Amino acid sequence: MNHVLYGLIAGHRQRRVLGRLLSEAPELATVDVDLTALKTEGVRALVFDFDGVLAPHDAAKPLAETELVLDQALQVFGAGHIYILSNKPSIERLQYFNLRYPDIVFVGGVRKKPYPDGLEKIALQGDYDAGQIALLDDRLMTGGLACLHAGSKFIYISKPLVDFSRNPIKESFFAFLRFFESFLARLAA
Ligand SMILES: [Mg+2]
Repeated sequence: MNHVLYGLIAGHRQRRVLGRLLSEAPELATVDVDLTALKTEGVRALVFDFDGVLAPHDAAKPLAETELVLDQALQVFGAGHIYILSNKPSIERLQYFNLRYPDIVFVGGVRKKPYPDGLEKIALQGDYDAGQIALLDDRLMTGGLACLHAGSKFIYISKPLVDFSRNPIKESFFAFLRFFESFLARLAA
């Protein structure tokens, strides 16, 4: 099934859980996430969404400020325990990570979030329990649902990186989606 359609159906089914997640989530940007606290809580693998989390939509590489977060994540969790799980795993991005961050694993060849396949692949590859994996994502109906399905920890980036001047139509579309899904989830909570 198409991942968007699947997201709508699963999102509707899980709306109360999503609503609860949302009501408990603090206002958070990628740079605000306390990586050391996550490690202390037992997280062993940290997974980053790309669009909205590492850079505005369609960027080829992370912003300088989020590169610093990736550097810190590598220090805290160690080489091989940081993953990128994007629904747009482009060649351009893959090449960037291979060159700039050979110790970060760029996940590809899996069904898109909200399917849990990417998180399950990471669990297998790194021999983690699902609950030892945390995903930073700016979308409830993709990343949030994927975490519910996989049994992993969801860190909701409610203050995503956007660039309306560079990509007005796409950023507006995703801003609407984020608004709409959080509206639905709040309604159900
Ligand atoms: Mg995103």
